[in-house]
Amino acid sequence: MTTTAPAVQKLSILEGGKWIPSQSERFGEVFNPSTGQVIARVPFCTADEVDRVVRTAAAALEDWAAVPVVERVRFLFKFRQIMLDRFEELARCVTREHGKTLVEARASVQRGVEVVEFACGTPSMMMGDSLANIARNVDMETTRHPLGVCAGITPFNFPAMVPMWMFPLAIACGNTFVLKPSERVPLSPNLLGQMLIDAGLPPGVFNIVHGDKVAVDALLTHPLIKAISFVGSTSVAQYVYETGTRHGKRVQAAGGAKNHLIVMPDADLEQAALAVQASAFGCAGERCMAGSVAVPVGDAAEPLVDRLAKIGQGMKTGPTDTGDAVDMGPLITRQHQQRVAGYLDIATGEGARVVLDGREVPAARSGGFFVGPSIVDHVTPKMRLAQEEIFGPVLSVVRVDDIESALQVGRNSPYGNGASIFTKSGWAARQFKQYFNAGMIGINIGVPAPMAWFPFTGWNKSFFGDLHIQGLEAVHFYTQQKTIMTRWFESATQSHHDPVWKSGKP
Ligand code: NAD
Repeated sequence: MTTTAPAVQKLSILEGGKWIPSQSERFGEVFNPSTGQVIARVPFCTADEVDRVVRTAAAALEDWAAVPVVERVRFLFKFRQIMLDRFEELARCVTREHGKTLVEARASVQRGVEVVEFACGTPSMMMGDSLANIARNVDMETTRHPLGVCAGITPFNFPAMVPMWMFPLAIACGNTFVLKPSERVPLSPNLLGQMLIDAGLPPGVFNIVHGDKVAVDALLTHPLIKAISFVGSTSVAQYVYETGTRHGKRVQAAGGAKNHLIVMPDADLEQAALAVQASAFGCAGERCMAGSVAVPVGDAAEPLVDRLAKIGQGMKTGPTDTGDAVDMGPLITRQHQQRVAGYLDIATGEGARVVLDGREVPAARSGGFFVGPSIVDHVTPKMRLAQEEIFGPVLSVVRVDDIESALQVGRNSPYGNGASIFTKSGWAARQFKQYFNAGMIGINIGVPAPMAWFPFTGWNKSFFGDLHIQGLEAVHFYTQQKTIMTRWFESATQSHHDPVWKSGKP
């Protein structure tokens, strides 16, 4: 049963630099997952409201695109400073509405700050190429230009960080932006919106609409939106990609994942177990880069599972908003808690063995949405636990005999976000990085999530589109190019005999 906190704030949308109450009759509840209490009500914007906000963003476009890029990024320098000044407030907001620990929330905000720092270098990244004299007296150059109004649609699991994968680069490139954050975690995005207002960003450059499928569909089909960045589950990513491209938009859509952690028998098992534990149970497994399948090879299996079970048993799961030190927080909603716990029943039904059962942690009996660290051994590659994204603290262990079988596990996965190997063998590491069927590879690293300077290169059903999020690819995504060919004729007045005009080679 959920209880309601005394003062429940009703969130507004951000339009043209002002907070505007939504006229929608539909609202959703935002929970503190540590307690199960409702902490805010978020409007589900109507299609008409979304249309109005997109038009506001479109009206701001011409002036913003004309601001020199070096001046545009100065707003981001200010925004970065405000984020640093209010870092703790933002991290606590992330913890309160998402439930991850404060340590994890701080790390996620820091990753967001790094994207802003990366975006501050947009003047260099927007530079084009040139080649003089491609034909006699003819020069050629490329220049990069904004696309127009861009939209971002984001998931619940990183309330501040994932929006920052998108809007800092989009606006630095001269676009205006409409963000539609997850309806489960709208508080941190609104705080970022206020920080952009405080940084003096001109009205209309950054806007926020809230809502569900109605708001998303209004963005995907809006004639004035030129590009859509999406992060979320695979089924919605595919829908967003197909609908957005059908309506003539550029789309990058990052989807769900099932990430494999291969542990070779020669690995430093102590280190490997710690890395697997952190990868599987960090952020309660609600990470698209969570290592949710351990694949021990040969003799690595027994000692690895023993170590993991011991480490997991020692972890403290509990509320993250009380100041008490905990290792793992709650899941996002009651419904998700029940779904994740249900996978442990599925595991037993499919013949796998539950080694550590997170349904039994004391916090699971509180008002919050808790499942403790869970480990399921003897999972086979065809079982649902090996194939489906659980998005919770459930680690499946698929034992294999050799490295080729480990590579095969990857080939059989519909996803392809991240994968890591733990080994002391350069040969095994090379085989793995060359042939494993995933886009982000770690060698003796638990979570090989790229820093802002590199693209987030998911494969298969973990990504739909061409140009990825982050890195130089993102600058290419948010800009369009011109190629310019130039020839100047020597005029009759510019006589070679007149020393004023005499120069260089003809
Ligand atoms: P989700 O797909 O349910 O929601 C994402 C966004 O889409 C939200 O803003 C939501 O309002 C909207 N949405 C939901 N259903 C929709 C529908 N039917 N039509 C149109 N829009 C819809 O995802 P989530 O549960 O918020 O987030 C978890 C998922 O995100 C996981 O699958 C995780 O792997 C994925 N994720 C991927 C990455 C990555 O980089 N690949 C990063 C973070 C999260």
